[in-house]
Amino acid sequence: MRAKLKVELIAYTPNPVEVCGKAAGVSYDKEEKEDYGTFIRRIVAFGHESVLEHASFTFRVEGISRALSHQWVRHRICSFTQRSQRRVDEGRGRYVLPPLDYLKNGEELKRKMEEFIQQSFKLYGELTAAGVRREDARYILTNATETKMYWTANVRELRHFFRLRLHKESQWEIRQMARQMFDLVYQIAPPLFEDLKRLRETGEP
Ligand SMILES: Cc1cc2nc3c(=O)[nH]c(=O)nc-3n(C[C@H](O)[C@H](O)[C@H](O)COP(=O)(O)OP(=O)(O)OC[C@H]3O[C@@H](n4cnc5c(N)ncnc54)[C@H](O)[C@@H]3O)c2cc1C
Repeated sequence: MRAKLKVELIAYTPNPVEVCGKAAGVSYDKEEKEDYGTFIRRIVAFGHESVLEHASFTFRVEGISRALSHQWVRHRICSFTQRSQRRVDEGRGRYVLPPLDYLKNGEELKRKMEEFIQQSFKLYGELTAAGVRREDARYILTNATETKMYWTANVRELRHFFRLRLHKESQWEIRQMARQMFDLVYQIAPPLFEDLKRLRETGEP
């Protein structure tokens, strides 16, 4: 069955703009401000980014492929927890397919991909039924196999992730996920992410 992308914001530092703003204020011995938004925009503009490490966001994501998760876990200054292919039976057969809408015969090729993926799940079921451990049977599964993740990142790392993964050069699936994450955090703390809005909309820095 095709999986559907779902991105949820599970938790975040309360009042993230104020927290980062107050942290930045310590540098100038002036923690109390009337307008933390304006202050934080200025701080972000001149690159005093370590203050952004004082606020973090936690996401839960499902309906993504192992192809996406492999790219995502390359980001190191953050925390991941992923559905385990050792502990969980993958026989439910959920997967993600690329759009292929840039090809005239894209739909036909997608059907072929889908058949192949379904065959891999079928073989997986045969192997586990025959006593092969899940950790071994998973070797025949494709990158399309769905996974689920929890992810926690501070604002500095989140912005770095957005800079790379909202970019038009980024792969479509991780970019689609990054866009949804951006929309969730932008709603909560515009001053922390405002300068990346254009990148979110156009893929251009
Ligand atoms: C469009 C695109 C194409 C890519 N193609 C490939 C590819 O073909 N092959 C491939 O292997 N990867 C590829 N990558 C992955 C890329 O090389 C990075 O591994 C990934 O984007 C994570 O970036 P990062 O290391 O900056 O981020 P993070 O790990 O989140 O690190 C954040 C920042 O912390 C600092 N940092 C972290 N660790 C260290 C360290 N050990 N030493 C010094 N500074 C550190 C750096 O400033 C880094 O930018 C691609 C990424 C993108 C966006």
